[in-house]
Amino acid sequence: MNIILFGPPGAGKGTQAKKIAKQFNLHQVSTGDLLRNEITKKTEIGIKIDQIISKGDFANDDIVDKLLKSEILKSSYRNRIIFDGYPRNIVQAKNLETILNSDNQSINYILFLKVNRETIEKRILGRITCEKCNKTFNEYTNKKEIENHMCGNVYLIKRKDDNESTIITRYEEYMKQTKPVLDFYSSRSCFYEIDGGQKIDEITNKIEQILTV
Ligand code: AMP
Repeated sequence: MNIILFGPPGAGKGTQAKKIAKQFNLHQVSTGDLLRNEITKKTEIGIKIDQIISKGDFANDDIVDKLLKSEILKSSYRNRIIFDGYPRNIVQAKNLETILNSDNQSINYILFLKVNRETIEKRILGRITCEKCNKTFNEYTNKKEIENHMCGNVYLIKRKDDNESTIITRYEEYMKQTKPVLDFYSSRSCFYEIDGGQKIDEITNKIEQILTV
Protein backbone atom coordinates (compact mmCIF):
# COMPACT_ATOMS: atom_id res chain seq x y z
CA MET A 1 0.00 0.00 0.00
CA ASN A 2 0.99 3.62 -0.59
CA ILE A 3 0.07 6.22 1.99
CA ILE A 4 0.15 10.02 1.96
CA LEU A 5 0.62 11.65 5.36
CA PHE A 6 -0.69 15.13 5.01
CA GLY A 7 -0.78 18.13 7.33
CA PRO A 8 0.78 21.48 8.26
CA PRO A 9 4.44 21.83 9.28
CA GLY A 10 4.85 20.47 12.81
CA ALA A 11 1.79 18.21 12.54
CA GLY A 12 3.91 15.15 13.35
CA LYS A 13 4.09 13.67 9.86
CA GLY A 14 7.71 12.61 10.21
CA THR A 15 7.21 11.09 13.65
CA GLN A 16 4.19 9.08 12.55
CA ALA A 17 5.71 8.13 9.19
CA LYS A 18 8.70 6.53 10.96
CA LYS A 19 6.51 4.54 13.35
CA ILE A 20 4.03 3.40 10.72
CA ALA A 21 6.79 2.53 8.24
CA LYS A 22 8.43 0.29 10.84
CA GLN A 23 5.20 -1.39 11.81
CA PHE A 24 3.86 -2.03 8.32
CA ASN A 25 7.21 -2.62 6.63
CA LEU A 26 6.95 0.48 4.44
CA HIS A 27 9.51 3.04 3.29
CA GLN A 28 9.22 6.61 4.51
CA VAL A 29 9.83 9.05 1.67
CA SER A 30 10.28 12.51 3.17
CA THR A 31 10.96 15.24 0.62
CA GLY A 32 12.26 17.40 3.48
CA ASP A 33 14.86 14.71 4.28
CA LEU A 34 15.75 14.28 0.60
CA LEU A 35 16.33 18.03 0.31
CA ARG A 36 18.33 18.16 3.55
CA ASN A 37 20.52 15.31 2.21
CA GLU A 38 21.36 17.46 -0.80
CA ILE A 39 22.28 20.32 1.55
CA THR A 40 24.54 18.02 3.60
CA LYS A 41 26.25 16.78 0.43
CA LYS A 42 26.86 20.45 -0.48
CA THR A 43 25.91 19.82 -4.11
CA GLU A 44 25.24 22.83 -6.33
CA ILE A 45 21.52 22.18 -5.92
CA GLY A 46 22.05 21.69 -2.18
CA ILE A 47 23.46 25.18 -1.76
CA LYS A 48 20.45 26.72 -3.55
CA ILE A 49 18.01 24.59 -1.55
CA ASP A 50 19.64 25.64 1.72
CA GLN A 51 18.89 29.30 1.04
CA ILE A 52 15.26 28.50 0.14
CA ILE A 53 14.52 26.19 3.08
CA SER A 54 16.18 28.52 5.59
CA LYS A 55 13.65 31.20 4.64
CA GLY A 56 10.72 28.80 4.95
CA ASP A 57 9.90 28.91 1.24
CA PHE A 58 9.19 25.84 -0.89
CA ALA A 59 11.87 24.24 -2.99
CA ASN A 60 11.36 24.30 -6.74
CA ASP A 61 8.90 21.63 -8.00
CA ASP A 62 11.34 20.31 -10.63
CA ILE A 63 14.04 19.61 -8.04
CA VAL A 64 11.61 17.98 -5.61
CA ASP A 65 9.90 15.92 -8.31
CA LYS A 66 13.22 14.61 -9.61
CA LEU A 67 14.36 13.53 -6.13
CA LEU A 68 10.97 11.98 -5.47
CA LYS A 69 10.67 10.09 -8.74
CA SER A 70 13.91 8.19 -8.20
CA GLU A 71 12.62 7.05 -4.79
CA ILE A 72 9.20 5.96 -6.09
CA LEU A 73 10.73 3.95 -8.90
CA LYS A 74 13.08 1.95 -6.65
CA SER A 75 11.85 -1.61 -7.12
CA SER A 76 11.98 -2.42 -3.39
CA TYR A 77 9.76 0.61 -2.65
CA ARG A 78 7.00 -0.48 -5.04
CA ASN A 79 3.59 -0.12 -3.32
CA ARG A 80 5.38 0.27 0.02
CA ILE A 81 5.72 4.02 0.42
CA ILE A 82 4.58 6.41 3.07
CA PHE A 83 4.89 9.94 1.66
CA ASP A 84 5.83 12.54 4.24
CA GLY A 85 5.78 16.17 3.11
CA TYR A 86 4.73 15.46 -0.45
CA PRO A 87 2.63 16.60 -2.25
CA ARG A 88 2.76 20.18 -1.01
CA ASN A 89 0.92 21.88 -3.87
CA ILE A 90 -1.54 20.98 -6.62
CA VAL A 91 1.16 20.58 -9.29
CA GLN A 92 2.93 18.04 -7.08
CA ALA A 93 -0.33 16.23 -6.31
CA LYS A 94 -1.01 15.79 -10.02
CA ASN A 95 2.59 14.82 -10.67
CA LEU A 96 2.43 12.14 -8.01
CA GLU A 97 -0.60 10.58 -9.67
CA THR A 98 1.13 10.63 -13.05
CA ILE A 99 4.23 8.88 -11.69
CA LEU A 100 2.23 6.29 -9.76
CA ASN A 101 -0.16 5.62 -12.65
CA SER A 102 2.72 5.18 -15.07
CA ASP A 103 4.04 2.44 -12.80
CA ASN A 104 0.62 0.84 -12.16
CA GLN A 105 0.58 2.03 -8.58
CA SER A 106 -1.96 4.11 -6.72
CA ILE A 107 -2.57 5.94 -3.45
CA ASN A 108 -4.36 3.70 -0.98
CA TYR A 109 -4.67 6.01 2.03
CA ILE A 110 -4.56 9.76 2.51
CA LEU A 111 -4.21 10.62 6.20
CA PHE A 112 -4.65 14.24 7.20
CA LEU A 113 -3.21 15.20 10.59
CA LYS A 114 -5.27 18.17 11.73
CA VAL A 115 -3.43 20.40 14.22
CA ASN A 116 -4.04 23.95 15.39
CA ARG A 117 -1.57 26.75 14.93
CA GLU A 118 -0.65 27.07 18.62
CA THR A 119 0.31 23.38 18.87
CA ILE A 120 2.33 23.64 15.67
CA GLU A 121 4.42 26.48 17.09
CA LYS A 122 5.12 24.66 20.34
CA ARG A 123 6.16 21.52 18.50
CA ILE A 124 8.37 23.25 15.97
CA LEU A 125 10.13 25.50 18.46
CA GLY A 126 10.91 22.53 20.72
CA ARG A 127 11.94 20.12 17.97
CA ILE A 128 15.41 18.60 18.03
CA THR A 129 16.62 15.79 15.79
CA CYS A 130 19.33 13.17 16.21
CA GLU A 131 21.67 13.54 13.24
CA LYS A 132 22.74 9.93 13.63
CA CYS A 133 19.40 8.06 13.70
CA ASN A 134 17.06 10.84 12.54
CA LYS A 135 14.78 10.43 15.57
CA THR A 136 12.93 13.58 16.60
CA PHE A 137 12.27 14.84 20.13
CA ASN A 138 10.72 17.88 21.75
CA GLU A 139 13.21 19.50 24.12
CA TYR A 140 10.44 20.70 26.45
CA THR A 141 8.26 17.61 26.65
CA ASN A 142 10.72 14.71 26.04
CA LYS A 143 13.45 15.54 28.60
CA LYS A 144 13.72 11.95 29.88
CA GLU A 145 13.78 10.39 26.40
CA ILE A 146 16.50 12.84 25.35
CA GLU A 147 18.62 11.98 28.42
CA ASN A 148 18.30 8.27 27.68
CA HIS A 149 18.64 8.45 23.90
CA MET A 150 20.78 5.56 22.67
CA CYS A 151 22.96 7.68 20.34
CA GLY A 152 23.84 10.05 23.20
CA ASN A 153 23.27 13.81 23.16
CA VAL A 154 26.12 14.89 20.87
CA TYR A 155 24.16 14.34 17.67
CA LEU A 156 21.10 16.31 18.71
CA ILE A 157 20.58 19.36 16.52
CA LYS A 158 17.94 21.98 15.93
CA ARG A 159 16.77 22.39 12.35
CA LYS A 160 17.82 25.71 10.84
CA ASP A 161 14.24 26.39 9.69
CA ASP A 162 12.68 25.71 13.12
CA ASN A 163 12.63 29.30 14.39
CA GLU A 164 9.92 31.88 15.05
CA SER A 165 10.29 33.93 11.87
CA THR A 166 10.55 30.92 9.52
CA ILE A 167 7.52 29.28 11.10
CA ILE A 168 5.38 32.21 9.95
CA THR A 169 6.49 31.82 6.31
CA ARG A 170 6.13 28.05 6.44
CA TYR A 171 2.61 28.31 7.81
CA GLU A 172 1.64 30.93 5.23
CA GLU A 173 3.03 28.75 2.44
CA TYR A 174 1.06 25.83 3.81
CA MET A 175 -2.19 27.83 3.83
CA LYS A 176 -1.57 29.23 0.36
CA GLN A 177 -0.15 26.22 -1.48
CA THR A 178 -0.78 23.04 0.49
CA LYS A 179 -4.27 23.61 1.88
CA PRO A 180 -5.77 23.50 -1.67
CA VAL A 181 -4.37 19.95 -1.95
CA LEU A 182 -6.64 19.06 0.95
CA ASP A 183 -9.68 20.08 -1.09
CA PHE A 184 -8.29 18.07 -4.01
CA TYR A 185 -8.18 14.93 -1.84
CA SER A 186 -10.86 15.33 0.82
CA SER A 187 -13.77 13.87 -1.16
CA ARG A 188 -11.95 10.61 -1.87
CA SER A 189 -13.03 7.44 -0.08
CA CYS A 190 -9.42 6.78 1.03
CA PHE A 191 -9.20 10.17 2.82
CA TYR A 192 -9.15 10.18 6.65
CA GLU A 193 -8.92 13.13 9.00
CA ILE A 194 -7.12 12.46 12.28
CA ASP A 195 -6.82 14.68 15.33
CA GLY A 196 -3.08 15.40 15.22
CA GLY A 197 -3.21 17.29 18.52
CA GLN A 198 -3.34 14.02 20.48
CA LYS A 199 -0.36 12.23 22.05
CA ILE A 200 2.04 10.48 19.64
CA ASP A 201 0.94 6.94 20.55
CA GLU A 202 -2.75 7.83 20.37
CA ILE A 203 -2.28 9.12 16.84
CA THR A 204 -0.33 6.00 15.87
CA ASN A 205 -3.13 3.81 17.26
CA LYS A 206 -5.69 5.70 15.24
CA ILE A 207 -3.63 5.28 12.08
CA GLU A 208 -3.16 1.57 12.78
CA GLN A 209 -6.91 1.17 13.14
CA ILE A 210 -7.48 2.82 9.78
CA LEU A 211 -4.85 0.73 8.03
CA THR A 212 -5.95 -2.59 9.45
CA VAL A 213 -9.71 -2.40 8.79
P1 AMP B 1 9.75 19.17 6.15
O1 AMP B 1 10.93 18.37 6.56
O2 AMP B 1 8.68 18.34 5.48
O3 AMP B 1 9.21 20.04 7.26
O4 AMP B 1 10.27 20.18 5.02
C1 AMP B 1 11.24 21.17 5.31
C2 AMP B 1 11.32 22.18 4.19
O5 AMP B 1 11.74 21.52 2.98
C3 AMP B 1 10.01 22.86 3.81
O6 AMP B 1 9.72 23.97 4.64
C4 AMP B 1 10.29 23.26 2.37
O7 AMP B 1 11.13 24.39 2.31
C5 AMP B 1 11.08 22.07 1.84
N1 AMP B 1 10.20 21.02 1.28
C6 AMP B 1 9.93 19.79 1.80
N2 AMP B 1 9.10 19.10 1.01
C7 AMP B 1 8.83 19.91 -0.05
C8 AMP B 1 8.01 19.79 -1.20
N3 AMP B 1 7.28 18.67 -1.42
N4 AMP B 1 7.99 20.81 -2.08
C9 AMP B 1 8.69 21.94 -1.86
N5 AMP B 1 9.48 22.13 -0.79
C10 AMP B 1 9.55 21.14 0.12
